[in-house]
Amino acid sequence: MTQQRPFNFSAGPAALPEAVLQRVAEDMLSWRGCGMGVMEMSHRGKEFKLIADQAQRDLRQLLAVPEHFHILFMQGGALAHNAIVPMNLAQRGGSGKVDVVVSGSWSAKSAAEARKYADVQVVAQGADAQGRYTEIPSPSSWQLRRDTAYVHVCSNETIDGLEMHELPDLAALGCHAPLVVDFSSHVASRRIDWSRIGLAFGGAQKNIGPAGLTLVIVREDLLGHASATCPSALNYEAVAKAESMFNTPPTFGIYVAGLVFEWLLAQQYRGLSGLAAVEQRNIDKAALLYEALDASPLFESRVAVAARSRMNIPFFLKAQRASDALYETFLTGAQERGLLQLKGHKSAGGLRASLYNAMPIEGVQALVRYLKEFELQYG
Ligand SMILES: *Cc1c(COP(=O)(O)O)cnc(C)c1O
Repeated sequence: MTQQRPFNFSAGPAALPEAVLQRVAEDMLSWRGCGMGVMEMSHRGKEFKLIADQAQRDLRQLLAVPEHFHILFMQGGALAHNAIVPMNLAQRGGSGKVDVVVSGSWSAKSAAEARKYADVQVVAQGADAQGRYTEIPSPSSWQLRRDTAYVHVCSNETIDGLEMHELPDLAALGCHAPLVVDFSSHVASRRIDWSRIGLAFGGAQKNIGPAGLTLVIVREDLLGHASATCPSALNYEAVAKAESMFNTPPTFGIYVAGLVFEWLLAQQYRGLSGLAAVEQRNIDKAALLYEALDASPLFESRVAVAARSRMNIPFFLKAQRASDALYETFLTGAQERGLLQLKGHKSAGGLRASLYNAMPIEGVQALVRYLKEFELQYG
């Protein structure tokens, strides 16, 4: 056995399950004895076809994706899909209108990018007077347009640490446009209500696998409305028809993600299994850290309780104690204890712990122990 690895709290690219990394290492030179590593295989060969089909089947089972949704393995990252989604969907219905709920830094970027391709309206703005995002605007306050082609939300704001614990029910708001969800940073962390979704997309590198793979899950009836100038390789209908093989897909990323799906399906926790187990463990992990922050004399979470993300937990020194030097001291001590990548996003400052699926409870316990130790010394 190898020595225990440190706990990696990176927001992304992020930690992968150790068991998955070990499998990848074993397969590196020869996948299942075929004499080729996965990176060296033709994407159209029978070996890779087995890998991609299994990954797709396992993901469908894991997330209970209904049959009338296509699962696409693409590239570009979530930021590219901020443009690719409007290229594919904004003209559906003819209005060219896109409504965006700005609940944090990533949805703000999505709105700005979609403006190049559509008539965008920000239908709810979550930033407070200081430009901070600490609450998600209630769906009943969203000023949705009757003829919008779709409504975009980010269901987990990675930088600000806000999560929609329930997806909005647009139909109940009198809106019959599809919901588009950027779920990059909490996909596969909890169950998903597909009846509320038209299209969901996300980069793999937060919770699913290596950077380079982008997941798009799209309802069948939303295909076939791409703008004339949409690049063919980015046309969701073309990619769906070719079963993600319109051009070379990110083969290694699909393979690693497939191993992660297998790992997730096999999880057991408190009498639960698969995604339900993963979700409950994520609830328990987040509760441990938020409880420690709420009880802390030195640190705080600034996010309203109802909107707190289970995956990304930014935290700060309380105003009277905040200083760059004390943050540096904290990060150095964390590093020494094997608690890595706790620095906050450059735009938000402070600290951030990302507790993706691969973070074991022991990692959160170790972080909480360190917080208490630090408070005793500096509080
Ligand atoms: C990381 C992230 C992005 C950007 O992803 P890229 O793969 O870098 O394009 C977009 N949205 C959310 C919610 C993210 O967490």
